[in-house]
Amino acid sequence: MAAIAFIGLGNMGNPMAANLVKAGHAVTGFDLAEASREIARNNGVDIKQSGAAAVADADAVITMLYDGPKVLNVYAELGAMAKPGAIFIDCSTIEVGDAREAHKIAADYDHASVDSPVSGGVAGARDGTLTFMVGGTPAAFERAKPFLEPMCERIIHCGGDGAGQATKICNNLMLGISMLGVSEAFLLAEKLGLSEQVLFDVATSRAGISRALLRYCPVPGPVPTSPANFGYRPGFTSALMSKDLKLAQAAAQKTSAITPLGTLASQLFALFNANGNGAKDFSAIITMLRGMGKP
Ligand code: NAD
Repeated sequence: MAAIAFIGLGNMGNPMAANLVKAGHAVTGFDLAEASREIARNNGVDIKQSGAAAVADADAVITMLYDGPKVLNVYAELGAMAKPGAIFIDCSTIEVGDAREAHKIAADYDHASVDSPVSGGVAGARDGTLTFMVGGTPAAFERAKPFLEPMCERIIHCGGDGAGQATKICNNLMLGISMLGVSEAFLLAEKLGLSEQVLFDVATSRAGISRALLRYCPVPGPVPTSPANFGYRPGFTSALMSKDLKLAQAAAQKTSAITPLGTLASQLFALFNANGNGAKDFSAIITMLRGMGKP
C-alpha cells in the first residue's frame, strides 16, 4: 500500500482516485470544488483542507486538471510541499510545452515526474480500463507504473518528457479527422440511397475501418452501443475533441508541421461547439455536416 495524493477530482479524477482506493492505497485528495470533494469523500478519499496538506505525506502526487496553466500553478505551489523523492504524475491533457515545463518544475524540487495523459474517457476511468501514454525517463516510467496500474488496461512508455502528451494529441488528431471522414462517407451514402448497414459492413471489412467507425459510428443502427443511438450522449465530448485539436494545432504551429486537415477539423469542431453542442459526443458533428448540405 502506498500513500497517493490526488489533485483534481473532477469527471475523470474522481473515478480514477476511487480505483486507487479500491486497490488498497491510502489516497489523500484535494479539489477546489466542494461537490467534487464530497464525491471523493464518499469514495473513500481522505479529503484535506488544501493541496499542500494532501501532498504532505504522499509517495506519489497525481494531478488531473483541465489545462496546462492549472497544472503549472499546482506544480509551482506543491513542488516544495511534497515529500522529498515523491514522484509527480500528471494525467491531464495539456500542451507539450507545458508538460515539459511541469517536468522542469518537478526536477527543481528533486521530484521524478511523468506526463501521463489518458485515453478511455469517463467510462474507462470508472472501469479502470484507461490507457496511459507516458512521457519521462525510463526510471521515472518504472516508478510511476505501480501507481497507474489500478486505473488502467494499458500503460505505454512513449518516450522522454512530453512524449505522452505528444502521443495523445497526435492520436486524437487522427480520431477527429477520421470522424469527419466517416461522417462525410455516411452523408454521401445517404445521398446515393445506400444502406448505412451495407456501408458499415463493407467498410469494416475493407479499407474504411477505423475506431471512429467501429466504436463511435455516427449514424444509429450499425453499432448499437455508439452514442448516435442515444441522442449523442457522450462518450467523448465535442468540447474535449475541440480542445485536443486546438492543442494539436498549437503544437503544429510551434513545430511548423503541416496539418491542413487538422486545421479544418479544429475549425469545424470549434464551430460545432460555438453552436452549443460541446456537451454532445463528438460523433454528433455529422448533424452539423448534414445541416450544411441542406439545399
Ligand atoms: P473536470 O473539469 O471535470 O475536472 C478538473 C477538476 O480540477 C475540477 O473538479 C476542478 O475543480 C479541479 N481543480 C481545478 N484547479 C484546481 C486546483 N488548483 N486544485 C485542486 N483542484 C483543482 O475535467 P475532467 O473531465 O476530469 O478532465 C481532466 C483532464 O482530463 C483534462 O485535461 C481533460 O482534457 C482530460 N481528459 C478528459 C476526458 C473526459 O472524457 N472527461 C478524457 C480524456 C482526457
